[in-house]
Amino acid sequence: MPTPTGQEGRPVAVVTGASSGIGAATVRHLATAGFDVVAGARRTDRLEALAKEVGSAVRPLPLDVTSAESIEAFTDAIPACRVLVNNAGGALGQDRIAQSDDDQWITMFETNVLGLMRMTRALLGKLIGSGNGHVVNIGSVAAHEAYVGGAGYIAAKHGARGVNDVLRLELNGQPVRVSEIDPGLTETEFSLVRFDGDAEAATRVYQGMTPLVADDVAEIITFVVTRPPHVDIDTLIVRPRDQARTFMVHRS
Ligand code: NAP
Repeated sequence: MPTPTGQEGRPVAVVTGASSGIGAATVRHLATAGFDVVAGARRTDRLEALAKEVGSAVRPLPLDVTSAESIEAFTDAIPACRVLVNNAGGALGQDRIAQSDDDQWITMFETNVLGLMRMTRALLGKLIGSGNGHVVNIGSVAAHEAYVGGAGYIAAKHGARGVNDVLRLELNGQPVRVSEIDPGLTETEFSLVRFDGDAEAATRVYQGMTPLVADDVAEIITFVVTRPPHVDIDTLIVRPRDQARTFMVHRS
Protein backbone atom coordinates (compact mmCIF):
# COMPACT_ATOMS: atom_id res chain seq x y z
CA MET A 1 0.00 0.00 0.00
CA PRO A 2 1.48 3.41 -0.88
CA THR A 3 2.31 5.67 2.07
CA PRO A 4 -0.49 8.23 2.40
CA THR A 5 0.82 11.76 2.04
CA GLY A 6 -0.44 15.30 1.47
CA GLN A 7 -0.77 17.31 -1.73
CA GLU A 8 1.69 16.27 -4.45
CA GLY A 9 3.25 13.71 -2.12
CA ARG A 10 4.35 16.22 0.53
CA PRO A 11 4.62 14.87 4.10
CA VAL A 12 1.88 15.95 6.51
CA ALA A 13 2.55 17.67 9.82
CA VAL A 14 -0.11 18.38 12.44
CA VAL A 15 0.44 21.33 14.79
CA THR A 16 -1.82 21.85 17.81
CA GLY A 17 -2.17 25.31 19.34
CA ALA A 18 -1.41 26.83 15.94
CA SER A 19 -3.38 30.07 16.40
CA SER A 20 -0.55 31.99 18.09
CA GLY A 21 3.02 31.98 19.40
CA ILE A 22 5.22 28.92 18.94
CA GLY A 23 2.49 26.94 17.15
CA ALA A 24 1.80 29.58 14.50
CA ALA A 25 5.54 30.08 13.91
CA THR A 26 5.97 26.30 13.59
CA VAL A 27 3.25 26.16 10.93
CA ARG A 28 5.13 28.81 8.90
CA HIS A 29 8.52 27.08 9.26
CA LEU A 30 7.21 23.57 8.49
CA ALA A 31 5.37 24.83 5.40
CA THR A 32 8.60 26.45 4.20
CA ALA A 33 10.41 23.15 4.86
CA GLY A 34 8.04 21.36 2.47
CA PHE A 35 5.32 19.99 4.73
CA ASP A 36 1.57 20.18 4.27
CA VAL A 37 0.52 21.46 7.68
CA VAL A 38 -2.78 20.85 9.46
CA ALA A 39 -3.18 23.72 11.92
CA GLY A 40 -5.48 23.16 14.91
CA ALA A 41 -6.71 25.46 17.69
CA ARG A 42 -9.95 26.88 19.09
CA ARG A 43 -9.64 30.37 17.54
CA THR A 44 -10.40 29.43 13.94
CA ASP A 45 -10.35 33.06 12.73
CA ARG A 46 -6.65 33.14 13.61
CA LEU A 47 -6.07 29.85 11.80
CA GLU A 48 -7.87 31.11 8.68
CA ALA A 49 -5.68 34.24 8.67
CA LEU A 50 -2.55 32.09 9.03
CA ALA A 51 -3.62 29.85 6.15
CA LYS A 52 -4.30 32.91 4.00
CA GLU A 53 -0.85 34.28 4.83
CA VAL A 54 1.14 31.06 4.30
CA GLY A 55 -0.83 29.57 1.40
CA SER A 56 -2.34 26.28 0.29
CA ALA A 57 0.12 24.13 2.29
CA VAL A 58 -1.79 25.08 5.45
CA ARG A 59 -5.12 23.51 6.33
CA PRO A 60 -6.90 25.17 9.26
CA LEU A 61 -9.16 22.94 11.36
CA PRO A 62 -10.95 23.64 14.65
CA LEU A 63 -9.48 21.77 17.62
CA ASP A 64 -9.99 21.79 21.37
CA VAL A 65 -7.56 19.30 22.90
CA THR A 66 -9.65 19.15 26.08
CA SER A 67 -12.61 17.69 24.14
CA ALA A 68 -12.66 14.04 23.01
CA GLU A 69 -15.33 14.88 20.38
CA SER A 70 -13.30 17.74 18.95
CA ILE A 71 -10.17 15.56 18.75
CA GLU A 72 -12.12 12.79 17.03
CA ALA A 73 -13.56 15.17 14.41
CA PHE A 74 -10.12 16.75 13.86
CA THR A 75 -8.16 13.52 13.51
CA ASP A 76 -10.86 11.82 11.38
CA ALA A 77 -10.43 14.66 8.87
CA ILE A 78 -6.69 13.95 8.49
CA PRO A 79 -5.88 11.06 6.12
CA ALA A 80 -2.14 10.95 6.89
CA CYS A 81 0.33 12.20 9.46
CA ARG A 82 4.12 12.04 9.47
CA VAL A 83 4.73 14.64 12.24
CA LEU A 84 2.59 15.55 15.24
CA VAL A 85 3.64 18.66 17.17
CA ASN A 86 1.81 18.64 20.50
CA ASN A 87 2.17 22.33 21.24
CA ALA A 88 -1.25 23.36 22.61
CA GLY A 89 -0.87 24.26 26.25
CA GLY A 90 0.14 26.92 28.68
CA ALA A 91 -0.06 28.13 32.26
CA LEU A 92 -2.86 29.68 34.29
CA GLY A 93 -2.11 31.86 37.31
CA GLN A 94 0.95 32.03 39.52
CA ASP A 95 -0.54 31.37 42.95
CA ARG A 96 1.36 29.60 45.70
CA ILE A 97 0.10 26.13 46.59
CA ALA A 98 -1.60 27.53 49.69
CA GLN A 99 -3.83 29.66 47.44
CA SER A 100 -4.06 27.30 44.46
CA ASP A 101 -7.17 27.22 42.27
CA ASP A 102 -8.50 23.73 41.41
CA ASP A 103 -10.06 24.82 38.12
CA GLN A 104 -6.78 26.32 36.88
CA TRP A 105 -4.93 23.11 37.76
CA ILE A 106 -7.56 20.97 36.03
CA THR A 107 -7.37 23.05 32.83
CA MET A 108 -3.56 22.93 32.85
CA PHE A 109 -3.60 19.14 33.19
CA GLU A 110 -6.36 18.81 30.57
CA THR A 111 -4.40 20.80 27.96
CA ASN A 112 -0.74 20.04 28.70
CA VAL A 113 -1.07 16.35 29.68
CA LEU A 114 -4.38 14.79 28.64
CA GLY A 115 -4.48 16.77 25.39
CA LEU A 116 -1.05 15.46 24.45
CA MET A 117 -2.04 11.88 25.32
CA ARG A 118 -5.36 12.05 23.43
CA MET A 119 -3.85 13.60 20.29
CA THR A 120 -0.99 11.10 20.25
CA ARG A 121 -3.33 8.14 20.80
CA ALA A 122 -5.66 9.32 18.04
CA LEU A 123 -2.89 9.79 15.46
CA LEU A 124 -0.55 6.94 16.41
CA GLY A 125 -1.82 4.56 13.70
CA LYS A 126 -1.26 7.22 11.03
CA LEU A 127 2.17 8.13 12.43
CA ILE A 128 3.25 4.46 12.31
CA GLY A 129 1.65 4.10 8.87
CA SER A 130 3.77 6.97 7.53
CA GLY A 131 6.84 4.76 7.98
CA ASN A 132 8.72 7.69 9.54
CA GLY A 133 6.48 9.14 12.24
CA HIS A 134 7.58 11.78 14.73
CA VAL A 135 5.84 13.04 17.87
CA VAL A 136 7.27 16.36 19.05
CA ASN A 137 6.02 17.52 22.41
CA ILE A 138 6.50 21.10 23.51
CA GLY A 139 7.32 20.89 27.20
CA SER A 140 9.09 23.60 29.14
CA VAL A 141 12.05 24.27 31.40
CA ALA A 142 9.26 23.85 33.99
CA ALA A 143 9.54 20.10 33.29
CA HIS A 144 13.02 20.25 34.84
CA GLU A 145 13.05 23.08 37.42
CA ALA A 146 10.81 24.46 40.14
CA TYR A 147 9.91 28.08 40.88
CA VAL A 148 7.66 29.64 43.50
CA GLY A 149 4.10 30.02 42.25
CA GLY A 150 4.55 27.55 39.40
CA ALA A 151 3.33 24.30 40.96
CA GLY A 152 0.32 23.62 38.73
CA TYR A 153 2.20 24.29 35.48
CA ILE A 154 5.35 22.56 36.71
CA ALA A 155 3.37 19.48 37.75
CA ALA A 156 1.63 19.39 34.36
CA LYS A 157 4.86 19.74 32.35
CA HIS A 158 6.59 17.11 34.55
CA GLY A 159 3.56 14.89 33.84
CA ALA A 160 3.85 15.46 30.10
CA ARG A 161 7.56 14.61 30.29
CA GLY A 162 6.65 11.31 31.96
CA VAL A 163 4.21 10.53 29.15
CA ASN A 164 6.93 11.21 26.55
CA ASP A 165 9.41 8.91 28.29
CA VAL A 166 6.89 6.05 28.43
CA LEU A 167 5.85 6.66 24.81
CA ARG A 168 9.48 6.30 23.67
CA LEU A 169 9.70 2.92 25.46
CA GLU A 170 6.38 1.71 24.11
CA LEU A 171 7.23 2.70 20.52
CA ASN A 172 10.69 1.14 20.54
CA GLY A 173 10.86 -0.96 17.36
CA GLN A 174 8.20 1.13 15.58
CA PRO A 175 9.09 3.77 12.94
CA VAL A 176 8.17 6.70 15.21
CA ARG A 177 10.50 9.12 16.99
CA VAL A 178 9.57 10.96 20.17
CA SER A 179 11.17 14.34 20.93
CA GLU A 180 10.61 16.88 23.67
CA ILE A 181 11.52 20.53 23.14
CA ASP A 182 11.66 22.43 26.42
CA PRO A 183 11.84 26.22 26.01
CA GLY A 184 12.50 28.87 28.62
CA LEU A 185 11.03 32.38 28.51
CA THR A 186 9.59 32.95 25.03
CA GLU A 187 7.68 36.13 24.24
CA THR A 188 4.28 34.97 22.96
CA GLU A 189 0.74 35.26 24.35
CA PHE A 190 1.75 32.77 27.06
CA SER A 191 2.03 35.35 29.86
CA LEU A 192 -1.07 37.25 28.73
CA VAL A 193 -3.03 33.99 29.08
CA ARG A 194 -1.30 33.13 32.37
CA PHE A 195 -2.25 36.50 33.88
CA ASP A 196 -5.79 36.41 32.49
CA GLY A 197 -5.34 39.22 29.97
CA ASP A 198 -3.35 41.57 32.26
CA ALA A 199 -1.02 43.10 29.64
CA GLU A 200 1.08 44.99 32.21
CA ALA A 201 1.80 41.84 34.21
CA ALA A 202 2.62 40.00 30.99
CA THR A 203 5.02 42.74 29.82
CA ARG A 204 6.86 42.69 33.18
CA VAL A 205 7.85 39.03 32.59
CA TYR A 206 10.11 40.06 29.69
CA GLN A 207 11.22 43.48 30.99
CA GLY A 208 14.98 44.25 30.95
CA MET A 209 15.91 40.90 29.38
CA THR A 210 15.98 39.39 25.92
CA PRO A 211 13.53 36.47 25.70
CA LEU A 212 13.35 33.85 22.99
CA VAL A 213 10.81 34.55 20.25
CA ALA A 214 8.44 32.00 18.72
CA ASP A 215 10.59 31.72 15.55
CA ASP A 216 13.60 30.61 17.65
CA VAL A 217 11.66 27.60 18.93
CA ALA A 218 9.94 26.90 15.58
CA GLU A 219 13.33 26.73 13.82
CA ILE A 220 14.47 24.13 16.35
CA ILE A 221 11.30 22.05 15.91
CA THR A 222 11.82 22.14 12.14
CA PHE A 223 15.46 21.08 12.55
CA VAL A 224 14.44 18.19 14.83
CA VAL A 225 11.85 16.76 12.39
CA THR A 226 14.09 17.09 9.34
CA ARG A 227 16.95 14.91 10.68
CA PRO A 228 17.36 11.48 9.02
CA PRO A 229 14.85 8.88 10.35
CA HIS A 230 17.41 7.09 12.56
CA VAL A 231 18.29 10.31 14.45
CA ASP A 232 15.98 10.87 17.42
CA ILE A 233 16.62 14.07 19.37
CA ASP A 234 15.28 12.99 22.77
CA THR A 235 15.13 16.19 24.83
CA LEU A 236 16.25 19.67 23.91
CA ILE A 237 16.26 22.50 26.45
CA VAL A 238 16.54 26.00 24.98
CA ARG A 239 16.68 29.14 27.08
CA PRO A 240 17.39 32.81 26.58
CA ARG A 241 20.99 33.64 27.52
CA ASP A 242 19.58 35.92 30.23
CA GLN A 243 17.74 33.03 31.94
CA ALA A 244 20.11 30.72 33.86
CA ARG A 245 17.23 29.07 35.71
CA THR A 246 13.45 29.56 35.66
CA PHE A 247 13.82 31.84 38.70
CA MET A 248 17.22 33.38 37.83
CA VAL A 249 16.85 35.98 35.10
CA HIS A 250 19.41 38.71 34.45
CA ARG A 251 17.65 42.05 33.90
CA SER A 252 19.38 45.29 32.96
P1 NAP B 1 0.45 31.07 23.27
O1 NAP B 1 0.88 32.13 22.32
O2 NAP B 1 -0.50 31.42 24.37
O3 NAP B 1 -0.13 29.84 22.42
C1 NAP B 1 -0.83 28.79 23.02
C2 NAP B 1 -1.58 28.03 21.95
O4 NAP B 1 -2.24 26.91 22.57
C3 NAP B 1 -2.66 28.88 21.28
O5 NAP B 1 -2.59 28.66 19.89
C4 NAP B 1 -3.95 28.33 21.86
O6 NAP B 1 -4.96 28.39 20.86
C5 NAP B 1 -3.56 26.88 22.09
N1 NAP B 1 -4.45 26.21 23.04
C6 NAP B 1 -4.64 26.49 24.34
N2 NAP B 1 -5.59 25.69 24.86
C7 NAP B 1 -6.01 24.90 23.82
C8 NAP B 1 -7.00 23.88 23.70
N3 NAP B 1 -7.77 23.51 24.73
N4 NAP B 1 -7.15 23.27 22.50
C9 NAP B 1 -6.41 23.63 21.45
N5 NAP B 1 -5.46 24.60 21.49
C10 NAP B 1 -5.29 25.22 22.68
O7 NAP B 1 1.73 30.44 24.01
P2 NAP B 1 3.06 29.71 23.46
O8 NAP B 1 4.17 30.26 24.25
O9 NAP B 1 3.13 29.75 21.99
O10 NAP B 1 2.77 28.24 23.99
C11 NAP B 1 2.95 27.09 23.19
C12 NAP B 1 3.50 25.96 24.05
O11 NAP B 1 4.81 26.32 24.52
C13 NAP B 1 2.67 25.64 25.31
O12 NAP B 1 2.62 24.23 25.47
C14 NAP B 1 3.49 26.27 26.44
O13 NAP B 1 3.28 25.63 27.66
C15 NAP B 1 4.90 26.05 25.90
N6 NAP B 1 5.92 26.92 26.47
C16 NAP B 1 5.86 28.27 26.37
C17 NAP B 1 6.86 29.06 26.95
C18 NAP B 1 6.84 30.55 26.88
O14 NAP B 1 7.59 31.19 27.64
N7 NAP B 1 6.07 31.15 26.01
C19 NAP B 1 7.93 28.44 27.61
C20 NAP B 1 7.95 27.06 27.70
C21 NAP B 1 6.97 26.31 27.12
P3 NAP B 1 -6.52 28.72 21.11
O15 NAP B 1 -6.62 29.55 22.35
O16 NAP B 1 -6.93 29.43 19.85
O17 NAP B 1 -7.16 27.36 21.23
